[in-house]
Amino acid sequence: MKMQIGGDLVAAKAGATLDVMNPATGEVVDQVPKGAASDVEAAVEAAAEAFPEWAALPGHKRAQLLFAAAAKVREAVPEIAKLLTLEQGKTLRESTIEAERVAANLEYYAGLADKIRGDYVTLADPGTFGMVIKRPVGVVAAITPWNFPLTLMANKVCPALAAGCTVVLKPASTTPLATQRAIEAINSAGFPPGVLNTVHGTGGEIGDALTGHPKVNKIAFTGQTETGKRIMKLAADNVTRVTLELGGSDPCIVCDDADLEKASRAVAIGRFFNAGQACLAVKRLYLFSGIAEQFMKMIAGRAQKLRVANGMTEGAMMGPLHTEKQRAEVEAQVADAVGRGAKVIAGGKRPEGPEFDKGWFLQPTVLTDVPEDSRMATEEVFGPALPIFIVKDLDEAIEKANGSVYGLGSSIWTRDLAKARRAAEHIEAGYTWVNAIQVAHDEMPFGGLKQSGFGKEHGLEALDGYLEKKSVVLSA
Ligand code: NAD
Repeated sequence: MKMQIGGDLVAAKAGATLDVMNPATGEVVDQVPKGAASDVEAAVEAAAEAFPEWAALPGHKRAQLLFAAAAKVREAVPEIAKLLTLEQGKTLRESTIEAERVAANLEYYAGLADKIRGDYVTLADPGTFGMVIKRPVGVVAAITPWNFPLTLMANKVCPALAAGCTVVLKPASTTPLATQRAIEAINSAGFPPGVLNTVHGTGGEIGDALTGHPKVNKIAFTGQTETGKRIMKLAADNVTRVTLELGGSDPCIVCDDADLEKASRAVAIGRFFNAGQACLAVKRLYLFSGIAEQFMKMIAGRAQKLRVANGMTEGAMMGPLHTEKQRAEVEAQVADAVGRGAKVIAGGKRPEGPEFDKGWFLQPTVLTDVPEDSRMATEEVFGPALPIFIVKDLDEAIEKANGSVYGLGSSIWTRDLAKARRAAEHIEAGYTWVNAIQVAHDEMPFGGLKQSGFGKEHGLEALDGYLEKKSVVLSA
């Protein structure tokens, strides 16, 4: 595959390429251009050149193009989803859901593109009034990780285009294929050349050229907290706006009055969807002591029933982890907990059999008696391993839930409205789900607190992030 700069599908100027590997088999799926600073330069220039005309286009015309792009993506869903499974490892069912989310996101922001409005303000001086006008911020550098390459791309590209911004997108170097295919589908709807560009390559090699470029007006980043901190420092040089969607360690509290059947289903989905590699995964489970034993059995049973397999296999429920490094990291976190006295009540090993030999598979794993100072309790666990902690009441649960540097999502299961309200008010996170699966909705703002970042994706708030407000005073 190629990258798309100024409307053209191009190779890297230096001719270098990157192999994209299949996490289930270790085979090469395809190659993409391995971009360098000169390719970033070309993409940013193309986006900067396209900006004035795109920004001046009436909102309803941008809306028409976004709706047309959604239709093109829907047609290509099977192809995009297959590429995603081959390069990322997730099951084809998960990939299909994700590819469909891109079309839905395009439609959501298409619906808003012609509804961007400013304000009229009365002022003290007679014959004088104020206006607040909204304008697109300019060229956006969108940088995405490998865990949900498509939805995280859409979360940035759709509101940016609706607002009238132009975009240079850099997907993760290990998952460029489905994204590139989706961008080609979007561009095939007729966007002017240069409005939506891609550059492929590793963050270490081209990240600085992109985020430090003086013609980039906004950086929309999703990825690790450490990378986000680096980007924020670099952005300071040009005072470039940033939106940072970073790591998380979401707590889930299950109270003793909860619907345990529904809660255990949600926790299993919340922890094991996408092999646990989700920013919004349930990463720490706090159980009230009265239901702890029963709930542990339920969640262990659900973990054991998940069929681990190559994501292309019919009936696969959980694919491999994305890379060898990712699996090793999760295994080390589990080993650390076990070494400090934790007990494994489900999984804990690599599945055995010839079909697993070349991939980065790990069994869905559940641990109890996990010490509070262990790595699983204090770090982000980005894989299919769930640490369980027992609490005596809601005060203790909230205190422990908040004992993390992260503040992305959180959830509570209870039939008691007072408990739900207290948790919603006091858990330090950008989202609290009450008796609901941790899913980010297009219609609601999503973004973290603390070291999970700042700025919002989804909803009207994401659109605001691509618009600047200017005050105008008119005297006549
Ligand atoms: P990562 O930070 O390693 O990489 C993310 C992207 O940044 C990639 O495209 C990478 O190439 C690029 N990059 C790396 N170094 C860069 C640099 N110096 N300058 C510019 N770009 C650079 O993250 P990852 O391992 O791909 O993703 C997993 C992480 O993302 C987890 O911590 C997860 O919680 C987080 N995440 C957060 C959200 C959210 O919405 N808050 C969503 C999904 C994932």
